[in-house]
Amino acid sequence: MSFLFLLQILVLCLIFSAPSTTDAWGKEGHFMVCKIAEKYFSEKTKEAVQDLLPEIANGDLASVCSWPDEVRFRYRWSSPLHYINTPGVCNYLYSRDCHNPKGQQGMCVVGAINNYTNQLYNYGDSKYTYNLTESLMFLSHFVGDVHQPLHVGFEADEGGNTIIVHWYRRKTNLHHVWDVSMIETAMKDFYDNDLNTMIDAIKLNITEDWSDELNKWENCQNKRATCANDYASESIKLSCSYAYKDVEQDSTLQDDYFYSRYPVVEKQIAKAGVRLAIILNHIFDAGTSYKMSSLFLQKE
Ligand SMILES: [Zn+2]
Repeated sequence: MSFLFLLQILVLCLIFSAPSTTDAWGKEGHFMVCKIAEKYFSEKTKEAVQDLLPEIANGDLASVCSWPDEVRFRYRWSSPLHYINTPGVCNYLYSRDCHNPKGQQGMCVVGAINNYTNQLYNYGDSKYTYNLTESLMFLSHFVGDVHQPLHVGFEADEGGNTIIVHWYRRKTNLHHVWDVSMIETAMKDFYDNDLNTMIDAIKLNITEDWSDELNKWENCQNKRATCANDYASESIKLSCSYAYKDVEQDSTLQDDYFYSRYPVVEKQIAKAGVRLAIILNHIFDAGTSYKMSSLFLQKE
């Protein structure tokens, strides 16, 4: 066997065994967030989004909502924008926690949401040279990420990436359980493996079970460019009280964990979708003073 061949095998092994610190909500999670958001776009927002989407999207924002995960190695600077680490505490502080590993302030998921929101406010200004197509895809993705509780997790375990667990019988890590495994199990157990059925069920919950909470989802106390600081605070609290709770290295997580945590997953996906719509309607349709709640209550 030649040295080169051995080297190739070694490289392949490294690629496939690398811990997946890179995941966000999996593809399904991001697709659902953006599909839910689309339902609450005003007419003007729909037009602007259509105008900005790249051709490969075929007119569907949801189809490109995972794009930032695909480019995070090409755009290396963007990798820290998918998450926030706290120093092992159950609260989040922008000044303490929103930075990349080099310590550059604002280089975290909250900073990214604020930054891409600000960029998109320049839509329609022909002198503005940023690539707003990418801004839209980044913003839509990061609003999803900040709602995955473990995207605001502890530095020491990289948001649960280094906590190895068994999801039923399969070995994985805690971060992946929240990105992907719980959604997959729910799809299989509750929704006949059909993503659209799952999306419809979440939309129905928004107009029915959660309708009296929409006001709270829409507003925030700590508003700067967006409410993203509050979204991050919610996520670290959920990480502590649900995701990390009663989990250790090598824990086996099954029905007890799934049934008590999965409702959090569904609600976070719903919140992310609704809030993405709120942000984009503010950006592209600021002149309209309708209450978002009137859009939420539209029936199918
Ligand atoms: Zn991400």
